[in-house]
Amino acid sequence: ATVLAVETSCDETAVAIVNNRQVLSSIVASQIAVHKSYGGIVPEVASRQHVEYVNLAIAQALQDAKLDWKSIDGIGVTCAPGLVGALLVGLTAAKTLSLLYQKPLIGVHHLEGHIYASYLTAADLQPPFLCLLVSGGHTSLIYVKDCGHYETLGHTRDDAAGEAFDKVARLMHLGYPGGPVIDRLAQQGNPKAFALPEGQVSLPTGGFHRYDSSFSGLKTAVLRLTQKLQEETGTLPVEDLAASFQEAVAKALTKRAIACALDYGLNTIVVGGGVAANSGLRQHLQTAAQAHNLRVLFPPLKFCTDNAAMIACAAADHLDRGHTSPLTLGAQSRMPISDVMQLYTHA
Ligand code: ATP
Ligand code: MG
Ligand code: FE
Repeated sequence: ATVLAVETSCDETAVAIVNNRQVLSSIVASQIAVHKSYGGIVPEVASRQHVEYVNLAIAQALQDAKLDWKSIDGIGVTCAPGLVGALLVGLTAAKTLSLLYQKPLIGVHHLEGHIYASYLTAADLQPPFLCLLVSGGHTSLIYVKDCGHYETLGHTRDDAAGEAFDKVARLMHLGYPGGPVIDRLAQQGNPKAFALPEGQVSLPTGGFHRYDSSFSGLKTAVLRLTQKLQEETGTLPVEDLAASFQEAVAKALTKRAIACALDYGLNTIVVGGGVAANSGLRQHLQTAAQAHNLRVLFPPLKFCTDNAAMIACAAADHLDRGHTSPLTLGAQSRMPISDVMQLYTHA
């Protein structure tokens, strides 16, 4: 199916047209420049920006794909989870298009979209597989059983991986968003310069949880270390700090993903979300997967962070199975990925 999808869950206004797994156009209007001066995302500002750009992005997506509405089989839209005000802008646009052009509406869970980013470049990918989802708001190990059917096997107990990158960058005064800056600095630093905790989650019965992670302790350790270094030396070795922090995160995520894949007998690990762009994680996971004979897939960088192509890809798959959403579809700030099928009325 050919689907036009709208994604406005956070700070990118994105519209894309996808024919099954083939991207025909993908527009991403990032608001990073607008939010940068606040040091993070301001929800009210995000909503206003979406209102301003969504129509332009829709028109541009059609123009880039050289298509008109006759060729569109359905309208996909991110409806959960995310900032409610931001989601509502995309949802209102998508419902209007659905009603106006008489096309089925397909609500998409944002995290299912991040999983589908890998389908865009791996034509042969089929469930079951394990997804390591590492984004600004989530860090999860998801057992992908089939389209719409997911089980979360592990998650972070506090900060998400991307959030940890952003917070550590902020405490080193490196700007926002932190992930790309830390990644760049880390490539000039020594990952063994400082030993940092990997953030294990204790089990009440003793030992540690194999799939859950915790990054707030790591963040605090970096904070203490920077304060100490600043006091003692008057400067900060930002490259070495970035490299050591990135190493700790990459190792922690790799260990859990490999353990989970082996325990569940899944031979493919698909990585999704903004942190999937991280060079340290890519290196560590690729090396470990090879050693265990596992296949690991990373989406191309432009499909790691938020985009609408991944949402359209998920929507197309649902539409092919007769999954469509009612026009009463609402925006939800939180929603477990295991509840995805609640978004659809079955044909
Ligand atoms: P969610 O998908 O959980 O709702 P989100 O949509 O805000 O959150 P994404 O757009 O998937 O998150 O990813 C953004 C996050 O990815 C930010 O925290 C950013 O710092 C991080 N990120 C981007 N590039 C890199 C990189 N190269 N290394 C590490 N982190 C990165
Ligand atoms: Mg974003
Ligand atoms: Fe996202």
